[in-house]
Amino acid sequence: MRPKRIAILGSTGSVGRQALDLIRDQGELFQVVALTAGKNVDLLARQAREFRPLLIACGDPARAGQLRERCGNGKIHVQAGPEGLRAAATLPEADLVLACIVGAAGLESTFAAVRAGKSVALANKEALVMAGGLMIDSARERGAKLLPVDSEHSALHQCLRGEKRSEVARLVLTASGGPFFRSSAAALADVTPEAALRHPTWKMGPKITIDSATLMNKGLEVIEAHWLFAIPEERISIVVHPQSIVHSLVEFVDGSWICQMGVADMRFPIQYALSHPDRMPSRLQTLRLEELPPLEFLAPDPARFPCPGLARDAIRAGGTAPAVLNAANEVAVDRFLHGGIPFPAIPQVIQEVLEQHEPRPVTGLEDIMAADRKARDAARAAVERRT
Ligand code: MG
Repeated sequence: MRPKRIAILGSTGSVGRQALDLIRDQGELFQVVALTAGKNVDLLARQAREFRPLLIACGDPARAGQLRERCGNGKIHVQAGPEGLRAAATLPEADLVLACIVGAAGLESTFAAVRAGKSVALANKEALVMAGGLMIDSARERGAKLLPVDSEHSALHQCLRGEKRSEVARLVLTASGGPFFRSSAAALADVTPEAALRHPTWKMGPKITIDSATLMNKGLEVIEAHWLFAIPEERISIVVHPQSIVHSLVEFVDGSWICQMGVADMRFPIQYALSHPDRMPSRLQTLRLEELPPLEFLAPDPARFPCPGLARDAIRAGGTAPAVLNAANEVAVDRFLHGGIPFPAIPQVIQEVLEQHEPRPVTGLEDIMAADRKARDAARAAVERRT
């Protein structure tokens, strides 16, 4: 059997690097055909020298020269800018595109892969949050398969294998609760970026780690699950499970529950998506049941953590509202990380921007991009008013 040919959009980020670790270990099963990065051309060049893809691209056109210098043997095609990312996303030689560019920056290339009818392993949840309807419709139209990489959605995908959608009562997403789940409202006001970046169970990039601390990550995941599994938002619940062993659960109409469990390590859901529909033997340490701590399941507190409620507001408003939620969140998280606003201001900024927004119907990616730009301006203005 020939190896599965993989294009990785965002190969220098946390998920991209872990995917390459897995591929390095399973060398005979996969072939890397394209790699892309935003700015980190040093690491991208090193990855290219090791994995010998057909095409590499950096999002930042100013760094294309540097990249060519480092991989300029003529064998690897080097591109840059949005066209470069698009070329990698739609490369005819790729069987599977792993979309792991963080945030709105990954939307266009992820959408291009779907439009090209590729199987897409989706680590970029923001693409589905911003443009879920468009993505799902296009995937259906083009025969593109969407495979979740997000651990909770990977868990749900596994729980739902062979099940009828009509027999699902509800989906339950587990949340670690982040580092401040037990902190008082007063303590939350003094949270520093350094403290927020210390996630108790998962090793992830900075943006998603802050989203985990505010629980916005779970709000975005409700929207993501709604689109991936065609279940209405009101039948998707969130439960805080600080041990991060159960990665999500499904309750069926007959009262049975199915959950998926495993070590909290992103390499498991990445491997599931890369190897789907097969399962590959893992070389990682797996669960030892006898050594597990007691497992807790607790209700999240909407007063201290309003972000999931804001995400539900956005999905109910529909149209451009989820894209606006996402844009305001990206700006607020970035300002918090740079010391511009306190931690509790993150949901306040998002709420202000959402309240100002008049949701519009979405007919194409341009509607989403326009709403995204406007919401970023509104969020920056909201931040400005606080400083
Ligand atoms: Mg997740």
